[in-house]
Amino acid sequence: MNFELTKEQEMTRKMVRDFAEEKIAPRAIDIDKNSEFPVDLFKEMGELGLLGIPFPEEYGGSGGDTVTYALAVEEIGRVCGSTGLSYAAAVSLGASPLYYFGTEEQKQEFLVPLAKGEGLASFGLTEPNAGSDAGGTQTKAVLEGDHYVLNGEKSWITNAEYARSITITAQAGKREDGKNIISAFIVPKDTPGMTIRSDYDKMGVRGSNTSEIVLEDVKVPKENILGDPKKGFGQFLHTLDGGRISIAALAVGIAQASLDRALAYAKERKQFGEPISKFQAIQFKLADMAMEVELARNMVLKAAWLKDEGKPFTKESAYAKLFASETAFRSANQAIQIHGGYGYMREFEVERFLRDAKLLEIGEGTSEIQRMVIARQLGC
Ligand SMILES: Cc1cc2nc3c(=O)[nH]c(=O)nc-3n(C[C@H](O)[C@H](O)[C@H](O)COP(=O)(O)OP(=O)(O)OC[C@H]3O[C@@H](n4cnc5c(N)ncnc54)[C@H](O)[C@@H]3O)c2cc1C
Repeated sequence: MNFELTKEQEMTRKMVRDFAEEKIAPRAIDIDKNSEFPVDLFKEMGELGLLGIPFPEEYGGSGGDTVTYALAVEEIGRVCGSTGLSYAAAVSLGASPLYYFGTEEQKQEFLVPLAKGEGLASFGLTEPNAGSDAGGTQTKAVLEGDHYVLNGEKSWITNAEYARSITITAQAGKREDGKNIISAFIVPKDTPGMTIRSDYDKMGVRGSNTSEIVLEDVKVPKENILGDPKKGFGQFLHTLDGGRISIAALAVGIAQASLDRALAYAKERKQFGEPISKFQAIQFKLADMAMEVELARNMVLKAAWLKDEGKPFTKESAYAKLFASETAFRSANQAIQIHGGYGYMREFEVERFLRDAKLLEIGEGTSEIQRMVIARQLGC
């Protein structure tokens, strides 16, 4: 593994950092406070090519790699968890399955506009009664002539209200052993019978759109089934493996922001006649935070590098997602502690970091599920 970033990776990181600091950071408090989905920022991110980083130019992308994409997610997450989550979901969950499994026609019709930044997409896996056990999906797809008819419900789907298309998983028959066949269907946003509601009042990532989807006799052309109809289950496991790298990168961004804020505050805040950074109790917190951020970032880059090299990365992406999300939560918590009472106030932002970080221990597989994935990879 080469530990030096390429010139292109460094350039993209700088470009995204400049954009994040100039355009996103000044709005982060309001985005959270008003649960405002920043449509205009996504338009600009699309124009900068950020929504197409890991996709080839022939599909409207920027022809970058997973490492570059992870660096971009980190930089956005560093200033705004909400924008970071919607960005990561748009690329890793919305566009990536179309790239991995779509036919050439599907890529042209559905992926190209996403990679060019002309729209967002979502991935609808979770249901009211199928969360960690996503294989227990109850949404049904029945083939009728030249189209499938979908009925069911999906919960907490990121970006759905603003999506151009939503990839929806559904039971589409039974295997010989009696288990459900799960397939994935590309459902264009304006398809009749699909109702999208965004009424959730969330603890964190409040500016990221999270929607409930109700499907009532939704007709989807047969050609909109994604890839091999019998392999939907494997498809979403692979999609989640990749998505976990981006959630981990977002967590590194929040952890880094927590460290930056805590360090700056500790140097400035005086008690007992000296800056609190002179107290060993505070120094040890900062030292632990710095070490964990460094380790989490290395784990993200290793998982991304493995993916780019075409090597197995399931275990490493679970390591990265688990460790980085728990690091983000711990770092944000310590940042609040170092800020004392000020840390409890919205304007100092570290309380938002904690609320946003909590989601990262839940979405795209909870911490418990990551430990199960790792144990399975160990042969347990
Ligand atoms: C803001 C937000 C955005 C989201 N975006 C999306 C999205 O875009 N697309 C999508 O499809 N989903 C999305 N989700 C759903 C998310 O992926 C699920 O919430 C998550 O997978 C957990 O499922 P659950 O909430 O049903 O919890 P449950 O599965 O009910 O789990 C509850 C608890 O039990 C534990 N648990 C469950 N099974 C086991 C086990 N076998 N062993 C040990 N412990 C276990 C869990 O770890 C957890 O602590 C989103 C969720 C949120 C909150």
